[in-house]
This record gives sequence, structure tokens and C-alpha cells, in this order.
Amino acid sequence: MLTEELMQDARKYLMDTYARYPLALVRGHGTKVYDVEGREYLDFLAGIAVNVLGHCHPKVTLALQQQAQQLIHTSNLFYTEPQVRLARVLVEHSFADKVFFCNSGAEANEAAIKLARRWAHAKDGAGRYEIVSMVNSFHGRTLATLTATGQEKVQKGFEPLPEGFRHVPFNDAAALSTAVTSRTAAILVEVVQGEGGVQVATPAFLKACRDISRERGALLMLDEVQTGIGRTGKLFAYEHFGITPDVMTLAKGLGGGVPIGACLATDDAAKAFTPGSHASTFGGNPFVCAAALAVLEVILEDKDILGQCARSGEYFLKGLQELRGRCPAVTAVRGLGLLIGVEVALDARELVHDLRKRGILANATSEHVLRFAPPLVVTTAEIDRVVATLGDVIEARR
Ligand SMILES: *Cc1c(COP(=O)(O)O)cnc(C)c1O
Repeated sequence: MLTEELMQDARKYLMDTYARYPLALVRGHGTKVYDVEGREYLDFLAGIAVNVLGHCHPKVTLALQQQAQQLIHTSNLFYTEPQVRLARVLVEHSFADKVFFCNSGAEANEAAIKLARRWAHAKDGAGRYEIVSMVNSFHGRTLATLTATGQEKVQKGFEPLPEGFRHVPFNDAAALSTAVTSRTAAILVEVVQGEGGVQVATPAFLKACRDISRERGALLMLDEVQTGIGRTGKLFAYEHFGITPDVMTLAKGLGGGVPIGACLATDDAAKAFTPGSHASTFGGNPFVCAAALAVLEVILEDKDILGQCARSGEYFLKGLQELRGRCPAVTAVRGLGLLIGVEVALDARELVHDLRKRGILANATSEHVLRFAPPLVVTTAEIDRVVATLGDVIEARR
């Protein structure tokens, strides 16, 4: 089907929830995707930080093929080996003792919020229930997670919102200290605000999150849905900062493209859930866990993939900073590993369209911020091409 026809049918049959680019993709390989007409694109968004190993990585594809022939789904009324093995790998490579599996980032945060409330109620009674999160954060689209999200545009029209959420400015330890009280069940924070325009937490702020939550008897919950699984050059972004949380959520990169989320916790926090207190029919089924196991196997066995991501991220940032030096329309460049934001004094959405016309996929998190989140296996030649092309499209818009 041609792109035009597909777009017409989409308008007719799909709910109108996405502002999509006029591009229909049919195939992907590594850092490249191909449209209906056979045109090639360099994918510097990777399904919004999802395809960490690139498209159709042979080990992920093979694991899915094999699992699909063996057992796809059983429900959580039974044990399956891929789920238990995946939990073990996550526990052995993180701060956590226990894992709960679900299907998306929102669901992982929903699990974390429910866990925090039950943990706090058991410890201090029903008066401790508040979740303190950040202005400009993003935690998902369920009612609880959109309430935790510090962006009005996500909440508008869905009132009344659930009670018990408050927001403080990101990277403001003094405001956090005032907001966290004996009513606080947990602090929920992203290590890098992805949807909020690629804002990196300062080490001092994350340390304050850790210290304040501990002092006041609340949990520290990191939303690593976007930053986890190698995106920042470490398996988990908290590893850059010398702190560990009590709870962490994962999703995007975890399955290398299949829908899976996870809520990880210390034993102390995890014991708040008992049989029947939380569940998900699909959560952690053998099919998605087989994919996630393959992703983690590649990342953990190929020791240099994280180092390569860190070096590529630095190389990309340096290239963009040089661009900023000769191009006044670029007003800021920031990021960690291969999660990178470029702030521009132009319409970022128009630049995204310009880049697409030149065969490069990225997106805009807001009117003035471009986001790049390529597969971790991106090459320096590909980065050079993106920096040069960005320079060209900005120049053409001036
Ligand atoms: C994308 C994202 C979510 C929501 O994930 P979904 O899978 O879309 O529900 C939550 N938190 C962060 C930090 C994200 O980037």
C-alpha cells in the first residue's frame, strides 16, 4: 500500500491520538529503516530510544523465532523459565533484589506508585501516600502516571486526577527538601528527563534525592524507562552518579522492540507486594522475556557496547557543540551517552521534517528541542552525517 492510501485508511480507522510524520515504514536493519517506496532512512530516534541494538538484531530475531515455536504465553498462574532467568540477570546487574514484569513504561511506573503506597501504608499507616515528582517530568499516560507527570498538556481534560501527587522543580534540592514530609511515600525522578527536553540531573540533585528520601522515611524511585539498558553508556543511568535507588522502572530499551516493562526493587520495598496485590496477564510472558534476555546477553557479553555508546555520545556532543559554535540558531546542546537534545531558536518540528526529507529520523520533544536517541551501535560516520545535515537544514532555514 502506498503511503498516501495508508494515511487515508489510518485517518478512517485509527483513533486520532498521534501527530505522525507522513512516512510509512516496512523494514529495518541495524541503524537503517526503509519506507513503502523503498527509500532508506538513518534512524536516529530508534523507536523512541527502544531499538538499542538497532533494527532486527540477529540474536534478538533468532530468540523470538525460537521462543515463538516453543511457547508464547502462559499467564502468570504458572512458572516460565525466560521470566525467571530475565529477573535473575536484572537483579545480578543492578541494585535490586526483586522484579515485577509488565508491558510498558506507564505500567512499570504504575506498579512503582502502587508499591510505594503499600510500602508506606504498611510502615506508617494510610497518612503516608504522597508521590513527589518533578516539573517537566514524564512518567506515562495512565491516570496515576499522567498525574505524576509534571506537564499540564498531558493532564488537561482528564480531571479529576488522583490525589496525592506534588511536583517540585527538577534539579532544585531546596524545593525538594521542603516538599518531602512525613506524608511522602516516594520521590519519583528521571535521571535524564527525556520527554522533558533531555535535561540531565545534576549529581548534587540526585544525591539530595537519595539523602532526603532516606532521612524522611520515603522511597527513592528512579524512572529509567528511557535511560535504562545502555542508553547513557552504562547499563543503568544511576551508575554514573554513585547512588542507588530503592525502586527503578524500565521499559523502552529492555525488549529491543517488543513491549515489556519492569519494576525493580530492593527486598525491603518489594515485600509490600503479596499474592494478589498486583498483577498483569501478559507481564513477563516467555515471548517478550526471550527477547529481553537476548538484548541483555548482547550488551553484557559484548563488553564494549556500553563503552562504544559512551564514546559515540561524547563524539556526537562534541560535533554538536562545534555546530553550536558556528551556528547561533543552536542555543544549547546537552545529553548523556546517546540520549541527546539540541535546543534551537527555530521551529524544531520543521527541522525534523527537513532532516526526514534528507533521510534522517529524529524527533522534537517540544517546539525548540530536537531529540536524538540512535541505536547504541551507531558509527562515527553516521554521527558525522547527522551533524553535517543538521547544520545544512538549519542554515537553509535562516
Ligand atoms: C516513554 C516513557 C514512559 C512511558 O512509557 P510507555 O511505554 O509509553 O508507557 C515513562 N517514563 C519515561 C521516562 C519515558 O521516557
